[in-house]
Amino acid sequence: MEHRADIAIIGAGFGGSLMAMVARRLGRSVMLIERGTHPRFAIGESTTPLANLLLQQLAEEYDLPQLLPFRRWGEWQREHSGIGCGLKRGFSFFHHTLGQAFSDDEQRSRQLLVAASPRDEVADTHWFRADFDQHLVNEAQRLGVEYFEQTELTNFDEQPAGVTLGGRRNGGSVRFHVGFVIDATGPRGWLHRTLGLAKRELPMMPATSGLFAHFNNVGAWPSAVGAPYPVEDAAVHHVFDGGWVWILKFNNGITSAGVGATRQRADELGLAKGEAGWQRLLAKLPSLAKQFTGAELVGGFVFTPELSFCSGQINGARWALLPSSAGFVDPLLSSGFPLTLLGIQRLAKLLDGGIDLADYERRTLAELDQVSRLVGALYASMGDFELFTALTQIYFVALSYSETAHRLGKPELAESFLLRDHPEFGPATRGICESVVRLAKRKEVLAKVRKTIEPFNVAGLADPAKRNWYPVNIDDLFSTAAKLNSSEPEIREMLLREQLL
Ligand SMILES: Cc1cc2nc3c(=O)[nH]c(=O)nc-3n(C[C@H](O)[C@H](O)[C@H](O)COP(=O)(O)OP(=O)(O)OC[C@H]3O[C@@H](n4cnc5c(N)ncnc54)[C@H](O)[C@@H]3O)c2cc1C
Repeated sequence: MEHRADIAIIGAGFGGSLMAMVARRLGRSVMLIERGTHPRFAIGESTTPLANLLLQQLAEEYDLPQLLPFRRWGEWQREHSGIGCGLKRGFSFFHHTLGQAFSDDEQRSRQLLVAASPRDEVADTHWFRADFDQHLVNEAQRLGVEYFEQTELTNFDEQPAGVTLGGRRNGGSVRFHVGFVIDATGPRGWLHRTLGLAKRELPMMPATSGLFAHFNNVGAWPSAVGAPYPVEDAAVHHVFDGGWVWILKFNNGITSAGVGATRQRADELGLAKGEAGWQRLLAKLPSLAKQFTGAELVGGFVFTPELSFCSGQINGARWALLPSSAGFVDPLLSSGFPLTLLGIQRLAKLLDGGIDLADYERRTLAELDQVSRLVGALYASMGDFELFTALTQIYFVALSYSETAHRLGKPELAESFLLRDHPEFGPATRGICESVVRLAKRKEVLAKVRKTIEPFNVAGLADPAKRNWYPVNIDDLFSTAAKLNSSEPEIREMLLREQLL
């Protein structure tokens, strides 16, 4: 069979389907080619305020109102209660010493709770990907995207006039003739392998492995009285020297849990052995083991020997990798979704003639590198929670500053992920991360973090008086309006418009 269209998108995860929907709205004919079928298990579930804002921007800019309910917990529950979802009010961190039960002190020096939203209605979510990705692929087809599932591509032939993709479908051969190809098949994906592209080093990132699964009947982690939000309505991170465990709870009874660890720690724990490795890990984290007493595995464990990856080339004359195919660092900062959504925005501009492929490549790689440096520094400080907490403030400050700048209609203040391209913030944070990895003097690093984030801190973060609990306090935004070249009335107007007050 022969098929023709302007664009082929390979991989029908949420990234591929969203890209396909946007391209249709730009008037292109689109074919979406998937190796498997929906619904299917997929990892990468937790959103952030920035990811949801980017989703909202795509919906508004490309006339895709059907995406809007997914930007917030409340709307999602009312309009799509059948699509699995988790409530994410913030980011919860607990620091463990291997072999010991979790305990904390008066200063709460072994936990960090950062609220991302003031109430459930406007909170972020975890996407239950089996449901969510299936819904999006259906939506893409409703917009006229031609969907080809169970299609195994084998050939990529680029000619001056276009690209021909060859493969097999329904027991026969199939060919797709297109003008441009976007690969959304994930890290080490189809185009990377088919074109034999080289790998590229991610700066400062240690080799890490991952082990993860879905469970039923996971118990509760206790929430202290007065906490900024119920600690489990969050992306929960249990950090220990050399690794961390994530726990995400969904409204369908499923809990997603997994561990990322340095190669050395992963080997010690035997994570490659799947369930046996998980049990060994729990035996070293007795408080978590209690939470998993009675938990039942849903499906199997997935072990990823090498979590991080970056392709040496991310575009050609007639093809581009989505950021999620171009590279991946680690789930620690939930950076996968915002980078993917930024990539979709940029490729949409490229299709519209707004930017060129070289610009797309420069920004995508620079942002992956920025994430890599910060995550590398965080891994290097997992045994020292005070330092780890200080480094997370770089992330939270950049995130809240960028989100507010964009909501205020001042994107020029925060054009790049993690303020990577900001002339002061970008180089200063890169310097801090380098110092941490080089084991520079701790006191100096902590002082440098405080100094660097202060001009961008619009959310009352990094305040010792708060003893690591950071609720959303709108007054913080009002009192720091000048940092965003703004004023209290302008901020108030924005919060009302965005239904955040
Ligand atoms: C352990 C882990 C945890 C993560 N957690 C988070 C998180 O909490 N938050 C976050 O923001 N990001 C997270 N990420 C990153 C996140 O998973 C990705 O950013 C996200 O999945 C990208 O979505 P996608 O649709 O582009 O790709 P994918 O979800 O990888 O989907 C790729 C699709 O392509 C299809 N495909 C693969 N090969 C072929 C082929 N040859 N031909 C056709 N189709 C093919 C697959 O079947 C699949 O449907 C995590 C990543 C990992 C590894």
